Amino acid sequence: MKHLIPLLLCLLLAMPVLAEEAECPLYIRAIPDLSEDFALGMDVSSVLALEAAGVKFYDHDGNERDLFDVLAENGVNYIRVRVWNDPFDSQGNGYGGGNCDINTAIAIGKRATDHGMKLLVDFHYSDFWADPAKQMVPKAWKGKRTTSKVKLLGEYTRDCLLLLKEAGVDVGMVQLGNESNNGLAGEKSFANMAKLMSVGAAAVREVYPDALICVHFANPENADSYYSYASKLAEYEVDYDVFATSYYPYWHGTLDNLKTVLSTIRQTYGKKVMVAETSYAWTIEDGDFSGNTIGEGGAYVKPYPFTQQGQVNSVVDVIQAMHDIGGIGVFYWEGAWVPVPGGSWEANSALWEQYGAGWASSYAAEYDPQDAGKYYGGCACDNQTFFDFTGHALESLKVFRLIRQGNDVPVRVDALEDVTLMIDLTGEIMLPETVNAVMSDNSRQAVPVEWEPYDADAMKAGGVKTYTIKGVAGGMEATCQVAMIEYNHLQNWSFEDEENGEWVATNISGCEQLYIEEKKTDSVTGTKHYHFYSAAANTVEFTLEQQVENLPAGTYRYEIAIMGGDGGDVNIYAYVKINGVEVARTPSTITSYNVWDKPVIEGVQVQEGDVVTVGVYVKCSGSGNGAWGKIDDAKLNTMK
Ligand code: CA
Repeated sequence: MKHLIPLLLCLLLAMPVLAEEAECPLYIRAIPDLSEDFALGMDVSSVLALEAAGVKFYDHDGNERDLFDVLAENGVNYIRVRVWNDPFDSQGNGYGGGNCDINTAIAIGKRATDHGMKLLVDFHYSDFWADPAKQMVPKAWKGKRTTSKVKLLGEYTRDCLLLLKEAGVDVGMVQLGNESNNGLAGEKSFANMAKLMSVGAAAVREVYPDALICVHFANPENADSYYSYASKLAEYEVDYDVFATSYYPYWHGTLDNLKTVLSTIRQTYGKKVMVAETSYAWTIEDGDFSGNTIGEGGAYVKPYPFTQQGQVNSVVDVIQAMHDIGGIGVFYWEGAWVPVPGGSWEANSALWEQYGAGWASSYAAEYDPQDAGKYYGGCACDNQTFFDFTGHALESLKVFRLIRQGNDVPVRVDALEDVTLMIDLTGEIMLPETVNAVMSDNSRQAVPVEWEPYDADAMKAGGVKTYTIKGVAGGMEATCQVAMIEYNHLQNWSFEDEENGEWVATNISGCEQLYIEEKKTDSVTGTKHYHFYSAAANTVEFTLEQQVENLPAGTYRYEIAIMGGDGGDVNIYAYVKINGVEVARTPSTITSYNVWDKPVIEGVQVQEGDVVTVGVYVKCSGSGNGAWGKIDDAKLNTMK
């Protein structure tokens, strides 16, 4: 006991010093004029299932606390909750994803209200997940004509809202459908979707006259689709207040585009706008033995490092974007969906099944056999939360509380950008002397790097292969991926040079769009590719080719990559011409997004002085939606 007294004295003496330190180590750019009623929202739909499965939440001091206490203390002022009509099988087993029905919404809503936070009620009008890929009709409405479905949806909405009202829940917004790009409650035509939305809107106006009515779509990177949704909502006179979007930086285009699209809709139709879903990963690790959407590899854009600082910068930038265009708020999606505490896949799996704490349980197979029924499991976003894998609040959660004043700590190195090199087997292996450091304010600075020793001769002798070389820069580990490739005789072979490089396109039938496009997720290598699109039938017809002179005599192999869709009748082939005469062609095709076809031509005999032309011919009738496609990674290599 004696030892405690000096210890306590030390602590007491240390306290004023601690209080003077920044209250958060992360840099937070201030948005000083952000209005007090700007919605800083959090979707916590899974929370009841998590708590039932044994998850505990802790504040920044390590004390076990109610999640809603922690969120409210850290500046969250709005809670979002999804509602499925009946997410249970015939035996009463929950489909998972929080088993979110109106009862969970009421329980979550009461806790939000008790903590001074408003509730956004997100009706999916389905018995399970509704998104651009699926909008399945609730079991009870299956086989009904549209007119009776309209009646049922109106009654259902009204009944649910009355229950929330009876429970005293402060409902601030009601969302009529979730990511309704391609339908609602099993209806696909916009005319029918509008009827359903309209009757839902009438129920909101009746029960919660002060609540805002919200429609919600995904994929703002497709600006024309958004303008079409907004125009159809006006055409069918759907009564709503807020046009909301999902914005996941990995897939949903730039913030500038988001601002342009939403402010155009805001100004054209006099609607409020907001981000109803966003999130960003603070780690690449998985915490629950069930793979994550944002994991190693995968086709996504990474505008910020996967660190708490990167997460904060992403959130601040999205809030800033909405603030800039007069948006009313930003909701973070499932910021508290932490791993269940089983400690192994088997134990976690039992908890997901019993409490519905994973994204889907096996019981969902009855309703959704193709997706949930096959791939059910845990949480795919436990690396995008504001809590660590054991439920302790991360420093990044403070962003909502500190956003107006900011947190002006000195800018430091937060992460290093990976280096990727492609070096042909005849080339010289030169690693860069500096790497890009991503600073905590998301600016970049070149810092000197020291690479570990590598055997250049062995790499050149080792054929086509990729090597990972580690190094140290600014006290952090740097990574360089070196891909050893065959010497490619084509210039600008991966379309990374915007100025078109050596490629010549010949537009034969008036194709509307033919150009080099920057979009990493649509590229085989690098961030760019050649894009084509045309809305009118029979207008996609073009060649894209490159001429190569002074090739050494020998035998060559040519390959190119193409993907696309809505082609209708297609005639596509790769070809090689020598001195203007076609000597070989290989048929190709387009099928669907990100399915790359790679036609190959081998055994091309080239003599000294020959002029070789390699290319691709594309002709599509179109399917009515406008044929489109991408071309990338052309290779002309010497054959051994
Ligand atoms: Ca996971």
